[in-house]
Amino acid sequence: MRQKLKNINNKLLITIFSLTSFLFLFIHLQFSVINYLSVLLLLAEIILASVIIYALLKKREKEIEEIKNTIRNIRDYKINSSNEIHLGNSLKSVEEEMHLMYDHWKNNIENMKKLEQVRTEFLGNVSHELRTPIFSIQGYLETLLNGALEDSKVNKVFVQKAINNTNNLNNLLNDLIDISMIESGQMKMSFRYFNIHEFLKAVISEFQPLAETKKIILSLHSPNPNLEVFGDKNRIKQVMTNLISNAIKYTEKGAVEIGVIEEGNSALIYVQDTGFGISEEDLPRIFERFYRVDKNRSREMGGTGLGLAIVKHILEAHDSKIFVESKLGLGSKFYFRLKK
Ligand code: ADP
Repeated sequence: MRQKLKNINNKLLITIFSLTSFLFLFIHLQFSVINYLSVLLLLAEIILASVIIYALLKKREKEIEEIKNTIRNIRDYKINSSNEIHLGNSLKSVEEEMHLMYDHWKNNIENMKKLEQVRTEFLGNVSHELRTPIFSIQGYLETLLNGALEDSKVNKVFVQKAINNTNNLNNLLNDLIDISMIESGQMKMSFRYFNIHEFLKAVISEFQPLAETKKIILSLHSPNPNLEVFGDKNRIKQVMTNLISNAIKYTEKGAVEIGVIEEGNSALIYVQDTGFGISEEDLPRIFERFYRVDKNRSREMGGTGLGLAIVKHILEAHDSKIFVESKLGLGSKFYFRLKK
């Protein structure tokens, strides 16, 4: 309301100014000579114009000073929320813009802080994950050097354990390379149709020897041998390898079933096991980088804690999503969909 009144005031001043100008012009033309009246009017006109211009300039100066002060306060972190930004009534539209700009700026800073924190945590995790196998290798080698090398009961075991740890290191480096490629957008995808039945048969055959050593029955449920799905075959292989190797890793006895179910325009692909299962509180976190329900068990099996994070990223690049259902002690089922 006050803003409107001020605007009206300004308009009124300008109107008075214009009317007097017209009046002066009229009288001047009427008498067509410069008489005292017209000189007087001219003077009055000049004085009025100067007063108006001076008042407007003063007002502008005050407004600019007000904007400058607010910007200074934002820059010096004296303002903690956009609600604390107040400008005079004539600057309400500038105030609104400043609110928007402040919220946008604050959001960006907070996002950057979060990213920085994630990065620091990630680096901390990476160093920790690297240190663990390196310390183990160092320990086994030192023990061998200090005499165990001559002890035929332990020497081979220690060498084997050192090798297992170098394998863990290798797995970790490979997974780290994948994660950084995915997150920096460098992982190139090549989408095409492929026969999912043949594909799953081939992937499963690679895991058959491992499953046999654990006496786990590995089976395929794929009723349509001609079914084609759309995706990056190599990346989907990486997804399946992670899911099947987890299913075998975290199953002590029983079976692992891999299957495809046709659903309208898509195919649901699942890996189901009769393993340890995952508790309800751990379930939402297993796709986070480095999150493991049981760190030692995962490491013993050569796990890096990055597998499911990679699976999640790859499926997101397929506009798909990974789902899990699990019951502690009964087993787990991981599944996702691909376009067919
Ligand atoms: P890891 O390399 O440790 O296997 P993943 O990212 O593949 O890392 O999995 C994260 C965690 O999720 C695992 O450490 C394990 O605790 C849990 N997990 C994954 N798959 C299964 C499964 N099939 N059964 C039980 N737990 C699982």
